[in-house]
Amino acid sequence: MLKEKNEFKEEEHNDYLLLRFLRARDFNLTKTYEMFSNCEKWRESIKIKDLCKNFEFPEEEEVHKLYPRFYHKVDKYGRPIYIEQLGPLDLKKLFNVTTEEKMINHHLAQTELEHIETSCTIMDLKKVGLFQFAKAFSFIKSSSAIAQDYYPEMLGQMFIINAPMLFTSTWKLITPLLDPVTVKKIKILGGKYESEIFKVIDKENFPKFLGGTCECPECTGGCSRTDPGPWKEEQYTKDVSWPPKYCLNDEPKAVLPS
Ligand SMILES: [Zn+2]
Repeated sequence: MLKEKNEFKEEEHNDYLLLRFLRARDFNLTKTYEMFSNCEKWRESIKIKDLCKNFEFPEEEEVHKLYPRFYHKVDKYGRPIYIEQLGPLDLKKLFNVTTEEKMINHHLAQTELEHIETSCTIMDLKKVGLFQFAKAFSFIKSSSAIAQDYYPEMLGQMFIINAPMLFTSTWKLITPLLDPVTVKKIKILGGKYESEIFKVIDKENFPKFLGGTCECPECTGGCSRTDPGPWKEEQYTKDVSWPPKYCLNDEPKAVLPS
């Protein structure tokens, strides 16, 4: 269909990508096409290729301290585990070192560079204060809207842990704005989250500070900076078709630190 309309781009579009859009729209071709072309328009409007090529994020280190987000091993289905900790997040401080736009762009550039089909996301709300929470919520909302509309079916599952009561009630208010398929993949858990988590993640793959048994060596930065996982193994990094060519500069500096 895309080929018929002359909208197929050899270097960007592949079966996996198109399949994700199809699945997100229950294989209804008209709806899939609508969603896909909206996404293409959006990618055009934000100039995604230039963004990938030229985006620099020197504040990475500072941002990580304020807002730890990292990949850590895989779950029982082989999906990379992505952990976000909102506790240390002080938005005022965060937006002193960076901007919301740059945060979102960084996330986009990362998503474009990483060849990840689906992931298992853990969002830790431990120690998130009331005031923080309201501000953080809008950030979560805008990033989840982007994920849902333009990177469909990439979220395998999401666990929100240490969620305060307030979160559960606010969540109920925003769920109508989200795709029901997305909502179904998100589990809100309070402080006793371990048993639910260990249904999908082996203890040894979960950081000790969150209740698992993994202790990555401190010298490489501990669980949150080591980036352990099968993607570090050579057999998976030989794939030359990734990252897509448009993400690479002549100089390898376009490769973002994770
Ligand atoms: Zn670890």
